[in-house]
Amino acid sequence: MPWIDARILRLSQLYAPTLKEDPVDAEVASHRLLTRAAMLRKVAAGVYSFLPLGLKVLHKVEQIVREEQNRIGAQEMLMSIIQPAELWHESGRWDVYGPELMSFEDRHGHGFALSPTQEELITAIVRNELRSYRELPKSLYHIQWKYRDEIRPRFGLLRGREFIMKDAYSFHDSPQSLQDHYDEQSRAYGRICDRLGLDWRSVEADSGQIGGKVTREFMALAASGEAEILHCTCGFAANAEVATAGLAPEVYDPNDAGTVRDINELQTQNSYNPVGTGASTEVESIPDLLKVHTPGIATIVALADFLDISEKATVKALAGRDSQGQVTVLFLPGSHEAGDLKLHNALLDFELMSDEEMRSAHLTKGFMGPVGLPDGTRIVADISLKNMPYWLVGANEPDYHLAYAACGRDFSVDAWVDSATAQPGDSCPYCGMPLVGARGIEVGQVFQLGTKYSEAMNARYMDEDGVEKPFIMGCYGWGVTRSLAAVVEQHNDEAGIIWPLSVAPAEVVVIMLTTADDVVQPAAEHVAEQLVELGIEVALDDRDERAGVKFNDADLIGWPYQLVVGKRGLATGIVELKVRATGERNDVALSDCVSIVADLICEQRRRYL
Ligand code: ATP
Ligand code: MG
Repeated sequence: MPWIDARILRLSQLYAPTLKEDPVDAEVASHRLLTRAAMLRKVAAGVYSFLPLGLKVLHKVEQIVREEQNRIGAQEMLMSIIQPAELWHESGRWDVYGPELMSFEDRHGHGFALSPTQEELITAIVRNELRSYRELPKSLYHIQWKYRDEIRPRFGLLRGREFIMKDAYSFHDSPQSLQDHYDEQSRAYGRICDRLGLDWRSVEADSGQIGGKVTREFMALAASGEAEILHCTCGFAANAEVATAGLAPEVYDPNDAGTVRDINELQTQNSYNPVGTGASTEVESIPDLLKVHTPGIATIVALADFLDISEKATVKALAGRDSQGQVTVLFLPGSHEAGDLKLHNALLDFELMSDEEMRSAHLTKGFMGPVGLPDGTRIVADISLKNMPYWLVGANEPDYHLAYAACGRDFSVDAWVDSATAQPGDSCPYCGMPLVGARGIEVGQVFQLGTKYSEAMNARYMDEDGVEKPFIMGCYGWGVTRSLAAVVEQHNDEAGIIWPLSVAPAEVVVIMLTTADDVVQPAAEHVAEQLVELGIEVALDDRDERAGVKFNDADLIGWPYQLVVGKRGLATGIVELKVRATGERNDVALSDCVSIVADLICEQRRRYL
């Protein structure tokens, strides 16, 4: 048997069954293409196996993440996937984590969880052994499988039930030390995004059940992303579920020929004071309540259409009950939706009422307003309405609305909350410019946890004065498998994947157009060998297949460079070099092709050294 250089990835030997057809359940490009390009196979909903080509990419993504963690002094370890339930009881999360936690009992009846995240385990590991302020700060990470029984596993690797995460945990003796490492981790995340070739934003976010208040998410921009983000040229960017933007509702004035004025304009012209700060003179100057006949106009869209005004000039009402069963009506600009997360963060327990419940609470669906609601109804309003001199609202009577409903005169508000989900076009909270919307895939998130876990789990160190204190902690999650898929979401075309060089399964493919040919075969082998000798990662398509099949597979798999070695070219000493990202093809001399490709690759590699 002839000697074979195993450093060359020989496609004739490789287990890489590419597929012509898209998998039927694939809704996004990454799921479709990773499957067709023989990288990924589905096991169950949200559970996948990596085939050899996919594993090569996965290892590269992991390695980039690892290098950037090591660069900032985080230390790699490997924690177990299986976590004793007691630890989760100690932190108090066993019950709050909910059905996403995958758990089981061993034969002795002891409870365990499959790790969805490892705050508990790492805190338990360090609590008896990291003792002195002299040993702080410490940052520890691992790259490991995670398990979450997602309610809707979908989009292939983007939302799996089994996925790989890099999670780091840091321990500090001062808020400043935590802030410093948090900033380092954020910079490391930016570098990871850059090295993966991602177009990304870091955004203000919510910490969910992980805990802590200071947190940011790293988003890869993609139409398939599940997160909505808002960003501004001034640098502000936030997840729309938490962004507090300027909503600028408009004021509807039927006396002024239905003029609709921008609330911002109104404030500067009339120096209108917010309701409740003694703006009585302005309230007096507001016309009396005006009943407007709006027959059958029971939705915001219909109302705006009927009066020929923007939805921003209307006020929407949502009826709900709080945990005590108290009837609450929430008012917000007609143009905006109430966000669940914002309501939750505003501690507003709010279960929307059914039509039946509304009827029995004497609420008039489609025509609710703050004037004349049944006694005992709690009125809550979005903060954006606070500066509105008067509102256009339902009259609590079928087929009627009220104009000039003035807060403080005609009704009062029990609580002001930040409830509306900001939208593109709302104004930036920092500079006032209109926000731009985009969709994002959350690839990572950094959190300042504070002492949530160290207090609950009694993890303490001794400070300089010999006093025991709970560790101040941070945690930093990066979705390894999700970011791999995010790369494909951003880098593909109709022919297949376009891997950035940094994570491609190999940097160049040498396509041997005809096998068993005594000119083409040795030439292609020789080119591949020379490239390997230079430290380039090479695949060699030495399969006994038609040229068309090889070209299609090369584009589908997405090797960054393709060197096509064929009989016709070789007759004049020529091979073809194709750059996958640009589609550019050039004839190059056989004698130069190795150095040309090596130069192109080394130049790109150097960028991230
Ligand atoms: P999401 O809001 O998308 O459910 P999360 O905020 O719950 O994610 P974290 O707890 O912050 O996720 O986990 C850290 C990282 O792990 C995320 O930024 C993401 O990249 C990755 N990740 C989380 N859930 C999944 C999942 N179901 N499939 C793949 N990756 C995931
Ligand atoms: Mg997150």
